Amino acid sequence: MKLPVLPGASSGCGGGGCGGHDHERGPSLECAVEDRVEKLVSQRLEEPGTRRDILRGGIAAALGLAIAPGCTTSEIDEFFQKHYRELKDDEKKKIFARLEEKTRRRTGVTVHITDPQPLEGVHFAYALNLSHCNGNRRCVEACARENNLPDDPQMRYIRVVELDNGSQHLEKGTTAYDPEKVPQPGKFYLPVQCHQCDNPPCVKACPTKATWKEPDGIVVVDYNWCIGCRYCQAACPYHARRFNWVEPEIEPERVNPDQGYLSNRIRPVGVVEKCTFCLHRTRNGRYPACYEACPTGARKFGNLADPHSEVRHIVENKRVWILKEELGTEPRFFYFYG
Ligand code: SF4
Ligand code: SF4
Repeated sequence: MKLPVLPGASSGCGGGGCGGHDHERGPSLECAVEDRVEKLVSQRLEEPGTRRDILRGGIAAALGLAIAPGCTTSEIDEFFQKHYRELKDDEKKKIFARLEEKTRRRTGVTVHITDPQPLEGVHFAYALNLSHCNGNRRCVEACARENNLPDDPQMRYIRVVELDNGSQHLEKGTTAYDPEKVPQPGKFYLPVQCHQCDNPPCVKACPTKATWKEPDGIVVVDYNWCIGCRYCQAACPYHARRFNWVEPEIEPERVNPDQGYLSNRIRPVGVVEKCTFCLHRTRNGRYPACYEACPTGARKFGNLADPHSEVRHIVENKRVWILKEELGTEPRFFYFYG
């Protein structure tokens, strides 16, 4: 669905895969990228069936693929995994079980990975009332917990930017505000996250098709297909993508066991991730975690294709605006006052 014109506005095999680097920041990233590039090359070379088996059986070594001697079968399977959109249901089941087991071994927590599909006739959109947002950042914390983000302030999908009243220049604002009370006089607060653009430059920039837009408008990433080149991150004008420089560490008591394969499952080092409008919740009829956490009611979320939804009412009747409209990204994230 075209939006209306708006007024005003896996880390390879256990570290052995690339020479047994220790997992400090540089070598770990290098290792992950090296593995993923090799994986990409092999998958582009192969044809279904025999070619895959031949590679698995030994030609891989001849091609210089870095499969560590100590790799388990499941690690090799992960290395050769197909693109999400090529996976059949039985293949998905095996992959989800493998990932659940991997998380259980790593964190001690039993998680459940599902794959909710886009719903027919649903086009998700967000609207944010800047008159009500007071900069308390509860949405940021709720998002981090919901999406299994590590305890690193750089790894947050939502940035709340504090700006001077009347300013429209994001780059003049700060996310590092820390007053005792919010809102501060003379300031307003602008939350920014992935806008699920209808014309997403991030998707166009991806050389491997590891990121794409789903029929319900959500832009997703296949973490097993992403090679960590970060082209998408550079292309996003909203600074909405995050890169895992290190293996994400999450305290067991903070792990959210309700996980979506294309959303909040625990990501490997060396891949890019972003907000997915909590698709594991919203495709099951729930609201995003940030929506539920907001104590001021500033956040509105729903189905833009439903003429009776709140978000549709806002887009049709309020003076909504989008960020960086001149870039033609066509966000599904609207701002308004009122
Ligand atoms: Fe892509 Fe950035 Fe748009 Fe999200 S906000 S869809 S990451 S360009
Ligand atoms: Fe695609 Fe971004 Fe991953 Fe590169 S980093 S492969 S552009 S999703």
